[in-house]
Amino acid sequence: MMKVLSRMSLGELEEFCLSIGQSKFRARQIYNWIYLKSVKSIDDMTDLSKRFREELKELAVVSDIKVVKKQVSSDGTVKFLLEYSDAQRVETVLMRFDNRANLTACVSSQVGCAMGCAFCATGKRGFIRNLTPYEITEQVLAIQMETGLKVTNIVFMGQGEPLLNLYNVLAAMKIFNESFQIGVRRMTVSTCGIVPQINKLAQLNMQSTLAISLHAPKSEIRQKIMPVEKKYNLELLKKSLIDYTKMTGRRVTIEYVLIGGVNDSAVCAKDLAYYLSDLNCNINLIVYNPVEGDEFKRPKKDDIYKFKYLLEVAGKKVTIRLERGLDIDAACGQLSGKV
Ligand code: SF4
Repeated sequence: MMKVLSRMSLGELEEFCLSIGQSKFRARQIYNWIYLKSVKSIDDMTDLSKRFREELKELAVVSDIKVVKKQVSSDGTVKFLLEYSDAQRVETVLMRFDNRANLTACVSSQVGCAMGCAFCATGKRGFIRNLTPYEITEQVLAIQMETGLKVTNIVFMGQGEPLLNLYNVLAAMKIFNESFQIGVRRMTVSTCGIVPQINKLAQLNMQSTLAISLHAPKSEIRQKIMPVEKKYNLELLKKSLIDYTKMTGRRVTIEYVLIGGVNDSAVCAKDLAYYLSDLNCNINLIVYNPVEGDEFKRPKKDDIYKFKYLLEVAGKKVTIRLERGLDIDAACGQLSGKV
């Protein structure tokens, strides 16, 4: 069976090189070609002898992930539909912001998702399987190979609930840090609020950003759009977030999708300010993007700014997240692995 080089650690690459009669130094060269230069093929590894490249091609490939489709939005966002060797597909998005040098990859942690959030295209698919650490990191490799660009930031906000695949996500973050040389503070893990796993991250003293998909300030509203509320309610969530901020010394990011007529009223803004009053956090407001065939609406412009204002007068730091890639269904909650 062909070896997949992008699924090997440096140590495994060294063992592999030794097993075929090459020096350990060759492994370091291959490793750099994959992670720092993101070449697509062994032929491009030009500091290896031609003979060794030919031999290597008989035994291995750089990566076996397939780019099924690539869509470029008018704002420069690029969405990739990727396929693994078992024919399962996920989406990964590369976001660029005009005024910043950062290139952010929004990666998927699972195929499908079990959490069933009412406003999310992935949730409608149900859970299919977890991704392995290398299946997660190969998404970024595929982006780098396809675009020739270097990803600088990672957000786990694609398909899946990262904290229900926690150990693979943590292992992927280690690879992003060590092999792709992306700093831990440039990574964000987003969750719909799996309380026991947040407690685990607090114990592990995670130094990446933790983002919480909150989306409602009251249990009655949250239950209607996020089934997770029935298991880990706002009260339990709040307690675990307070502990998390104390134990890690890090503030959390609160994600709040404003949905017209559901959670965008002035009362909701005041309730949210009250709920978050003793939590060290930033708030990201995201304007809901309608998904084909669903019952939710975009909020009115005035309601968005009133909501932001009411949080700000309560002393909260609030940003309205720039919408990226709306025209290609790459905005939050719109990833579903559809063809
Ligand atoms: S919003 Fe996130 S947690 Fe909720 S169903 Fe979609 S992918 Fe899963």
